[in-house]
Amino acid sequence: MELNLLVLCYLIGSVTFIVGLKMLSNPASARNGNLVAAVGMFIAIIGTIFLYEDNGQKLGNYSWIFAALLIGSVAGTLMAKRVQMTAMPEMVSLFNGMGGACAALISIIEFRHLAHSTDLATADQTSLLIIMLGLIIGSVSFAGSMIAWGKLNGSIKDFAFKGQHIINIILLLLTLLLAANNIINRPAQMELFFYGVVVLALVYGIFFVLPIGGADMPVVISLLNSFTGVAAACGGFLYNNKVMLTGGILVGAAGTLLTILMCKAMNRSLQNVLIGSFGGGTSSSGGSTQTGGTYKEVTLSDAAVVMSYANKVMIVPGYGLAVAQAQHVCHELEKTLEAKGVEVKYAIHPVAGRMPGHMNVLLAEADVSYEKLLEMEQANEEFKNTDVVLILGANDVVNPAAKSDPSSPIYGMPILEVEEAKHVIVNKRSMKPGYAGIENQLFFQPKTSMLFGDAKKALQDLLAEVRNL
Ligand code: NDP
Repeated sequence: MELNLLVLCYLIGSVTFIVGLKMLSNPASARNGNLVAAVGMFIAIIGTIFLYEDNGQKLGNYSWIFAALLIGSVAGTLMAKRVQMTAMPEMVSLFNGMGGACAALISIIEFRHLAHSTDLATADQTSLLIIMLGLIIGSVSFAGSMIAWGKLNGSIKDFAFKGQHIINIILLLLTLLLAANNIINRPAQMELFFYGVVVLALVYGIFFVLPIGGADMPVVISLLNSFTGVAAACGGFLYNNKVMLTGGILVGAAGTLLTILMCKAMNRSLQNVLIGSFGGGTSSSGGSTQTGGTYKEVTLSDAAVVMSYANKVMIVPGYGLAVAQAQHVCHELEKTLEAKGVEVKYAIHPVAGRMPGHMNVLLAEADVSYEKLLEMEQANEEFKNTDVVLILGANDVVNPAAKSDPSSPIYGMPILEVEEAKHVIVNKRSMKPGYAGIENQLFFQPKTSMLFGDAKKALQDLLAEVRNL
């Protein structure tokens, strides 16, 4: 009876993961989707703690289990509540690393379990295969995610040396060979070799992510996320636990799809992302060389006039809008212009900001209607019929060098083709470059005018001017 109840818990868990994931694909239902999947996870965890039996024995160890649950839940809740929107990718990376570490620890514990309960020379090879897979994938995911976390928060700098990719391939081959030897030959020194695999996989995870440029981190995090999913699925196989298997496979598949979609959005192959060095070492600080020529500035009142008398205004949000937390005043400006009969829409680049969907989340926070958000392809169709493009703290995603300069590190990345519109107004604080660390020729084009200042202050002043007209 109890076992059936546990199976039911797992079934509910699996179904909620699938339904939750489906709901995540639409911004309007995403929040509830997350909640639905979390409830399913809660049911699966509580079911396991109280209903799981092994040879008639319950789990026990309740004080340890609940102490760990409490510490994890409090730490996770506090971190999620306190995190700045701009630091989200770092947190995702850190949490993903914890998932990878859990998967690797499961493999280590189960290996020790196997070593103490049977003679390793006759150990079941399928179990060994799954243990090794979970160990390698989980360790790579853990070490790689920690490096990605350090890179995104600026504490770890890009590091690459000549021939590093060859060393990486050798490291990976060594790891796989040692693991295969353990599974196939079951040598007498298996325990020693097993820990050798742990060390090699960790070193490989570090070397794998270290040379990858900062601007490619979201793709790498997504890839590592899919690794964690697969590693967790290995745990599901090991314990014959259907909900763990389903959850792991879903994370693995979703992470893989997101990786492919992001590569497509940047028009780059995964191989190019992993061995190229786009955006390496420049981070967002940079220092412009200003070789682009002269640029012109626009006054607040002129900007207000052009926008108020336009038929159509397209707002291009970028990282700077998130930094300034200017989404609410941006929405106010949109409503004020609409009240004057101006059609206002938003052009969303898939990698604008610092995480996938960053701009969607930011604008949703300010209650901007989803119908107003245009994806890159739709926006590019509409720019030629747009009177004014207002760029708010975006830079790389509107840099025409991506189309015209084969020597540019962002060459090939699809961009928002804002120069098709009649006027372009760019709000940022200075002429400094964006994340990729390169100058933007758009700022020097005749139809472009710069509106310098922090996005929040500039928008507040612009809004006041528009209201006065
Ligand atoms: P960028 O980083 O290219 O540019 C942001 C601009 O915002 C800067 O040039 C900066 O100029 C300006 N800015 C900063 N603070 C403010 C402020 N308070 N007010 C006004 N402006 C401000 O951002 P984009 O969104 O255009 O492009 C995203 C970049 O980040 C791409 O290169 C992408 O590959 C990369 N990336 C994307 C991730 C994702 O998943 N979306 C994750 C990690 C990287 P100034 O200093 O002069 O004000």
